[in-house]
Amino acid sequence: MSHLSEIFGSNVFNDSIMRERLPKATYKSIRKTIDEGLPLTLEIAEVVSSCMKDWAIEKGATHYTHWFQPMTGITAEKHDAFINPTEDGKVILEFSGKELIKGEADGSSFPSGGLRVTFEARGYTAWDCTSPAFIKNNTLYIPTAFCSYTGETLDKKTPLLRSMECLSKNAVRVLRLFGNEKVSKVTSTVGPEQEYFLIDKKLYDKRKDLIFTGRTLFGAKAPKGQEMEDHYYGSIKERVSAFMKDLDDELWKLGISAKTEHNEVAPAQHELAPIFTTANIATDHNQLTMELLKSVALRHGLVCLLHEKPFAGVNGSGKHNNWSLSTNDGQNLLDPGKTPHENAQFLIFLCAVIKAVDEYADLLRLAAGNPGNDHRLGANEAPPAIISIFLGDELTKILDQIAAGEDISANKAGKLTVGVSTLPALPKDTTDRNRTSPFAFTGNKFEFRMVGSSASIASSNFFLNTIVAEVLEQFADRIEKSGDLDTEVNNIIKEVVKKNGRIIFNGNGYSEDWVAEAEKRGLPNIKSYVEAIKCLMDEKNLSVMEKHKVFSRVEMHSRYEISLEKYIKTINIEALTMLEMSRRQILPAAISFGAQVANSINQIKSCGIDADISANAELLQEVAALTAQLKKEITLLDEKVAKAQEPDQDTFSQAMYYRTEVFVQMGRLRAAADKLECIVDAKLWPFPTYADILFNI
Ligand code: ADP
Ligand code: MG
Repeated sequence: MSHLSEIFGSNVFNDSIMRERLPKATYKSIRKTIDEGLPLTLEIAEVVSSCMKDWAIEKGATHYTHWFQPMTGITAEKHDAFINPTEDGKVILEFSGKELIKGEADGSSFPSGGLRVTFEARGYTAWDCTSPAFIKNNTLYIPTAFCSYTGETLDKKTPLLRSMECLSKNAVRVLRLFGNEKVSKVTSTVGPEQEYFLIDKKLYDKRKDLIFTGRTLFGAKAPKGQEMEDHYYGSIKERVSAFMKDLDDELWKLGISAKTEHNEVAPAQHELAPIFTTANIATDHNQLTMELLKSVALRHGLVCLLHEKPFAGVNGSGKHNNWSLSTNDGQNLLDPGKTPHENAQFLIFLCAVIKAVDEYADLLRLAAGNPGNDHRLGANEAPPAIISIFLGDELTKILDQIAAGEDISANKAGKLTVGVSTLPALPKDTTDRNRTSPFAFTGNKFEFRMVGSSASIASSNFFLNTIVAEVLEQFADRIEKSGDLDTEVNNIIKEVVKKNGRIIFNGNGYSEDWVAEAEKRGLPNIKSYVEAIKCLMDEKNLSVMEKHKVFSRVEMHSRYEISLEKYIKTINIEALTMLEMSRRQILPAAISFGAQVANSINQIKSCGIDADISANAELLQEVAALTAQLKKEITLLDEKVAKAQEPDQDTFSQAMYYRTEVFVQMGRLRAAADKLECIVDAKLWPFPTYADILFNI
């Protein structure tokens, strides 16, 4: 057996382990529970838990944990040992069905956006049996959903599971109308491509900004950046290659199918792509991938930076969320079919995505937002903050022709409308790529390219699933009511092209012209994350999430508060770190350098010769002026941070103040410091520079 097939999934309590180890009847029940999304009964859980415990203990596990995804965006776990004390002072190894399906967590320290008052701080976790349990660091991990005792969601998994359910329900309805009686479940599939930076740990340790905020808050451009285009797909350096090999092993053991790894555009930047799977497993796997990227890097003396913009002036990192719909008999619903009938079905699903993305662009913009991604979106390295869809010229043309009532049937039989039975084969073009589009159709899936590298992909997918479910429901209602599939499909396509066609844009998304054109088309251009958060309170968004039971209004409100608070805290930490570094490291370095130059002038003068000291004098002037500027910007930032924390403001205004005042002032302080970095004696500069960090490995 090859190394890969030996280790792949070896630490996962997966289907084949269950089939092998569970009694036949239990295996059948749990399979049914997973496939049909039924609630897990305690009876099955008792058998599964005991089997799971034995398997885990054989593999060396001593603890178990209900692993969940609170609103912090990272994962949380509380470890319990399998042991239970007995009366004779010994212990037995125990893990009951109840412990498998339900855990208790004191959730008081997790963000809840006011959902729970502290005396009701308890939350509970419930096993998501559609995502398999696994072993990591001698602990059995049970993927779980996290709720408050009153049932409100406190995590990112619950809404994702709910959104998958409503999407399945409505997609199956549409398939039935197309005469498909077999399919009983439709799942959203996701393959997230993950970008990251790798830097030397010794250099990382010398920078407080990297330690506290994950990004550099200061740093002049290195003489070399990414302009030579020599890093992209470049040969992978030995140290990085050893890291990647180690990482692959760890991922494979957990059944994560890491497939491609390559160097990205910026120096020290890399990418990893797994093979796609169901949206909830992909989300769990992406969280694990991010954790492993960090922990495996440390073993190699490296630090993995997942921040969206760790270095100014070179590309930042994102995550491409590839998304499609798959039936339980293996059809990809976004794959243009071979027969006219399949084509029509494909076009309906395609139109559902187009309409959903146009009508709820604000929710997707929000899903892609976080404080880090504000540095990227619309900054000519990542898609603009304007959502648009790339379809490719051919597909766009076909939609336009159908909308115009033109005959596009293969046999040109003279029919003016395109019925289900007359559609020609659709182009299967996967090469036609537009790297500047935020939401691109890539042949058989959509690629949502705005997502930030550090973000959980849960929200991108729960919003996407829900809004597509909503439109599919509308389509199903219409087709049902009309009773004539052919005519109604035609009407729907026409209407979507007319009403939502504005969202389709096949040109260069980075160009200035597009910004103007998008405005003309009435597409929203939500420039900052804080502004994007506001859409959580829009009636249309509240009602669509409520209607499909993904979020209640209360839950949406709590997420609004949590998101704003997260923004405020992030910028506050960044500002305080800047103040600390500039006061205690940069300013002293600048002053020392000034003194050094001043001394040189005095020393030359004291020699009593008539030497030209104009260079020294000029430099001293320059250093003194920049030092004064730096001090001024420090004082201003200090004042703004104090003002930002004044009590009695609503959270939105406070977040906006951080964005328009504190964040902007941070830019000014940085500019002054970066200018100093360019003239101060390198020996005096208090931390490693971009040149040191980016070209070290
Ligand atoms: P790129 O050219 O953008 O690097 P690839 O075609 O290699 O893209 O695929 C990128 C990602 O898309 C991979 O993670 C892949 O598994 C995923 N992907 C492919 N097909 C689907 C699908 N039907 N649903 C979801 N993701 C998919
Ligand atoms: Mg991609």
